[in-house]
Order: sequence, then structure tokens, then C-alpha cells
Amino acid sequence: MFSLYIHIPFCRQKCFYCDFPSIAANSTTLYNDYITAVIKEINLRRQILGPLKISTIYFGGGTPSLLPPESIGILLSAVSAKFIVSSDAEITLEANPGTVSLDSLQKLNQYGINRLSIGVQATQNNLLKFLGRIHNFKQVQTAVDDAKKAGLKNISLDLMYGLPSQSLKMLSESINWFLNQDIQHISIYGLQIEKGTRFAHMQLNNKLSLPNDELVEQMYDYITNTLPLHGFYRYEISNFAKPTFESRHNMTYWQDKPYLGIGCAAHSYYNQQRTYNTHNVYKYIKTCNDNLLPSIKEETLDRKKWMEEFCFLALRTVDGINKTKFKDTFNCNIYDIYCESINKLKSQHLLSEDKEHLCLTPLGMKFGNTAFESFLQ
Ligand code: SF4
Repeated sequence: MFSLYIHIPFCRQKCFYCDFPSIAANSTTLYNDYITAVIKEINLRRQILGPLKISTIYFGGGTPSLLPPESIGILLSAVSAKFIVSSDAEITLEANPGTVSLDSLQKLNQYGINRLSIGVQATQNNLLKFLGRIHNFKQVQTAVDDAKKAGLKNISLDLMYGLPSQSLKMLSESINWFLNQDIQHISIYGLQIEKGTRFAHMQLNNKLSLPNDELVEQMYDYITNTLPLHGFYRYEISNFAKPTFESRHNMTYWQDKPYLGIGCAAHSYYNQQRTYNTHNVYKYIKTCNDNLLPSIKEETLDRKKWMEEFCFLALRTVDGINKTKFKDTFNCNIYDIYCESINKLKSQHLLSEDKEHLCLTPLGMKFGNTAFESFLQ
């Protein structure tokens, strides 16, 4: 079984903190050319991989909800024509408030979208504006209400913390609002200042006032303590879900399972091979139109790299590393390879162990990077 990711690289405008592969574009011709290219890539991948069985589909971006719903319907039909999509496939679309309506969400639901991931980030208009988001809080409320009216029963909201001028009180207001929405999933993101973004430029010019480390830690603690009290259990470092609503698609990445990435900047992973598509939208369109694969780089994971990735990706999840699965996969005991790292992390109270698993403690989740680095030798 494969998971399928389809990248839609368009946004109405670039958020000030964002270094994701997306461009500000509002051109129907460009959108249509891109859809045609994606369909060509689907056909090319099918020729190489055969009729794969697909268990999840994820439209990420960018802002997939910028496209007319009919375009998403066309892409889903193209996928179903070439691959075998499970009847119970989880099919997610990332959406931003201000780019959806009741009508568009109803159509998306009819085309097969059964999970919506909405980029809310915060509920204060001044914060949203400062982040360069295109929406205001009223549009957030409308988007969530419309999603429910449209019949979507699996809704995830994104929340950001550690934002310039964000206080603990503002964060708690946002969380309270989230908790009153009858939603199923919440993803949290601590703001990182990424190279090349407007925020990075502002920081360089001393024009960005970020909360200090102590306040960011208080925000993190507040989120991770509050959400579980309200039925959202933490199944991965940055993700909380009501029982049975974990993102099946994202679990693929953390469980060393195969996935196919279609679209510009998408990457694929199967048979320990990773393939990367070009980030350039125009180059992507041209290459696919020439009936060539848009991959620009291929990497085969050697045994050491595969083990490292297996471990640190699994550690992101609440179940951690399954020792038997490690043994079955690599034909050796995990202690033969990582004894020193495991003992060190256990002595620092970052890692705990039971008969079957090695997993991060709550402290380990907080300082995840320290734990992950221990597995990179
Ligand atoms: S909407 Fe998302 S992908 Fe687009 S610029 Fe903002 S953060 Fe980046």
C-alpha cells in the first residue's frame, strides 16, 4: 500500500514566515497548465510503478483550496484511473480560510475529499495580519462552520505559537476557540525563522520582536498540557487527535512506509529510494509536457541512513520505535547499534522503554532534537 501526496504550489500571497515551496500566483492559465502537468506525471509514474494500491491521498501546498474544486475532482479522477484507491482511503485537502465557501466545500466533499486541514494559526486579527496571512478571524469561523455544514467529519486545524507579540493569554484564547469547534485534530507549529523569508529579513534589521525562550516554553507547556485534557491525545510530537482521527497519511512518513509524491517539489520514498521533483513550477510544467519525469535528484538510503531515519521518524510518534520491527527490518537488535545513545537518553530521562517499544518521554518530546541527533552517528 502506498500513500500519495500531490503538491499544489500556489498561494494568494506569501506569508511572512513561510519557506514552503509555493509561489504567489492567481492565474487560471497557470493553474490549468499545472493540473495538466500533474496528470502527465501521474501517467508517467503509473507506467513505471504499475497499478499501485493507494491508501491515503493528501493535497498539500501551497494552498490547494485556491484551485477550483473541479480541478481537484479532475486530479482525483486521474488518480483513480491509474491507481487502485482503497474504498476507505483518507483523502485530505489543505485549505486556507478566505479561499473556501460552503459551495466549494460541498463540491470537494462530493469529489471525495473526506478530511480538511485548515490553516487557522491564530484567532487574533492583528496576529494574522502580522504573519501575512490572507484571512481574518471571521473568515476562519466561516470556513470551519462551512466545512461542517458541507458534511466534512474529519477536520484538522493548524495552530502556531511563539509568534511576534503573541502572549500566553492570546494563545489560550485561540486554544479555547479551537476546543469549542467540534473538530477532530489539531497540529501545532512553533514559529521558526527561516532563511530567505520576510521575517528573517526583519530579524536581521532588528524589526522583529520575538517572545523569549521562557515564554515560548510556557506556550509549549500550555498547549501540550491543555489539549489532552479536552480529549485530544498527542500521537506525534506536533499532532493531537481525538481517538481514531490520527492522520493516516502522515503516519506513513513516520512508520517507514512507501509514498509517492506528485507535483513540483514533491518527493517519493519506496524501496529505500528517495526521489525529489524540481521546485520550479515552470520547469515542472515543461518537463512533464515533454513526457519526462520531473525528478531532479535520487538518493538511495544505505543501511546506516535507513536505520537512522527509521529511528528518528518513529521517535516522533507516541509509540516510538518498535524493537521487534527494527529487528525484523534490519536483522539485528537495536542495542547492537544504538546501545550508547539509548542508555544516554534514558539517563537524561528523554527516553523510556517497555518490553516492545522505546519512546520519548514528555521531556524527550520537548527536546526532540537532542533525542533525534543521538540516532545520527
Ligand atoms: S498559505 Fe501556507 S504555503 Fe502559502 S505562503 Fe502561507 S504558510 Fe506558506
